[in-house]
Amino acid sequence: MAEKKKIAVIATGGTIAGTGPAGDAAGYRAGELPVEEVVSSVPGLGEIADLEMHTVCQVDSNDITFGAYREVKNLVEQLETDPSVDGVVITHGTDTLEETAFLLNLVLDVTKPVVITGAMRPATATSADGPANLMQAVRLAADDSARGMGVLAVFSNMVFAGRDVKKTDSMSTDAFRQNEFGLLGYVRD
Ligand code: ASP
Repeated sequence: MAEKKKIAVIATGGTIAGTGPAGDAAGYRAGELPVEEVVSSVPGLGEIADLEMHTVCQVDSNDITFGAYREVKNLVEQLETDPSVDGVVITHGTDTLEETAFLLNLVLDVTKPVVITGAMRPATATSADGPANLMQAVRLAADDSARGMGVLAVFSNMVFAGRDVKKTDSMSTDAFRQNEFGLLGYVRD
């Protein structure tokens, strides 16, 4: 059996870490939950990969700063040189996920998989989509086929290039597209 990979999860906040009235999809606050709680809400995640958690910030992604961008970049570069880490997942708010993915794809020169994801429903919503997105992002980051591909985004079963991904829907959990460039792939288990 292949050895279990180690994936570093870098949290920046967003709806994936949001909390609000039980069951509701709206009226929540983004970036409330610590990354450890976000990760522990995903059944079976620890069987897919060993995880190490880092928190850069816990904000609504409309409030992300250049300082946070710099910290994420430096951290990913540091993880690239850490032989115990196989890949990186970044959790992020969806509103500016495409800007962060585009920027990181320009400034990072790394071979290990770097996968950004988020959620449209807060962690406290009925059928929150964060756990499935995070599970798929970790699976992709642990997959050798994602090495050397630049920054990738995973959302709602789909794999996008960080350069081209766009938020195209502000209501649906199926919120991202890559327009005329198509998809890089799908994640299914
Ligand atoms: N306003 C949130 C954010 O971008 C929306 C989300 O994460 O879906 O942080």
